[in-house]
Amino acid sequence: MQGRGKSIDARAVLAMDRSARLMQRAVKRMPGGVNSPVRAFRSVGGDPLFMERGEGSRIFDVDGNSYIDYVMSYGPLVLGHAHPEVIESIERTARKGTTFGAPTELEVELAELVCKALPSVELARMTNSGTEATMSAIRLARGYTGRDKILKFDGNYHGHSDALLVAAGSGVATLGLPDSPGVTKGAAKDTAVLPYNDLEAVRDLFEREGEQFAAVILEPVAGNMGCVPPAEGYLEGLRQLTAEYGVVLIFDEVMTGFRLARGGAQERFGVTPDLTTLGKIIGGGLPVGAYGGKQEIMELVAPSGPVYQAGTLSGNPLAMAAGLTTLRTTAEPNFHERLESLGERWRGGMSDAAASSGVPFTINQVGSMVSIFFTGDPVTDFVSAARSDTEAFKDFFWHMLSRGIYLAPSQYEAGFISVAHTDDDLNRTFEAAGEWFAGRG
Ligand SMILES: *Cc1c(COP(=O)(O)O)cnc(C)c1O
Repeated sequence: MQGRGKSIDARAVLAMDRSARLMQRAVKRMPGGVNSPVRAFRSVGGDPLFMERGEGSRIFDVDGNSYIDYVMSYGPLVLGHAHPEVIESIERTARKGTTFGAPTELEVELAELVCKALPSVELARMTNSGTEATMSAIRLARGYTGRDKILKFDGNYHGHSDALLVAAGSGVATLGLPDSPGVTKGAAKDTAVLPYNDLEAVRDLFEREGEQFAAVILEPVAGNMGCVPPAEGYLEGLRQLTAEYGVVLIFDEVMTGFRLARGGAQERFGVTPDLTTLGKIIGGGLPVGAYGGKQEIMELVAPSGPVYQAGTLSGNPLAMAAGLTTLRTTAEPNFHERLESLGERWRGGMSDAAASSGVPFTINQVGSMVSIFFTGDPVTDFVSAARSDTEAFKDFFWHMLSRGIYLAPSQYEAGFISVAHTDDDLNRTFEAAGEWFAGRG
């Protein structure tokens, strides 16, 4: 066990023996014991909890502890865990066969639904992950423009493809890797990185070499350095600049699509990108990604055009079924209003819990994406996010865990609220947070 600091407190409250034993086995056979780095709890010090099941807003670990979950698998589970209709649609579909390597009706339905919800998407291609979606969108933008360079923003994460694994936020920031060994200079050299929310920096760059850029890719609301909203006029400014220089504007809505509005951040902020990448919610908890956009650009994708991209399991029937059921449910009246009001309640309740303590904090919230940073200064980009007191976060994390509240084990991950979260869940969260703040003040 590597338990340190407050993890000792949490362990005094929670049984963790089975998780600890599983981790001992896991580290012998899997790098760091996990299949994705942030799950390993490295940045909060200690061992991860192994989960057994989820239901609604709750997850249950292998030692029998239950938690109110604000990770929600890092975004996909907008309906909560094990939503009965989603599970039923997966079961019904699985009985008919899990993959064919031939088209199915479900793919057509999901593409139609995505195009209807996001009018900027005229054609869509399904992939198996968000990483594949962004990687392919970049390839397409390069193929379309005949240019090599791309621009991304510090602290934005677009999956782990080589060209995009530069200044890439949460997982990487948490591990303290400036970027990754194994990414060649060649793969990274055409990727320019600028601070998020700094339109002037983009204007300066484009004045010098705008004609060399194939694409600008960004999270329209950042969620991979904690939640950081776009500044007033930022998205509009990027739209204008990219149009002026003939650069493809890509909104990476893997996290925000169907979460911040049915039509994602582009609907919420009224700014239309050329290409959009999706994932997470559109797979309803199964592995999925998608990219789409203007017909004129998307028609270059094989087999209708020369830009190659493929996938044995792309458009997989189980993922399509889970996605369709999820997206149809998010179309129900007041769905996003409910998410919105839960997010606003979370902001208010957490602010109240923290306010009288004298501990510096900043809360960022956009709809159902939430973050609390332990700094009194506004958090608008990666540099200001990194000012948060991560030691305080660690302590807060273990305190919340010991009170049955499961937060992402990193300051740089946004929290996610689902429609399965109840007022009682939120109240218990505020109460637990209030205890911690009172103890620190
Ligand atoms: C999660 C995420 C990705 C990567 O998606 P994976 O399915 O994990 O490959 C890309 N972009 C954003 C904005 C994300 O939040």
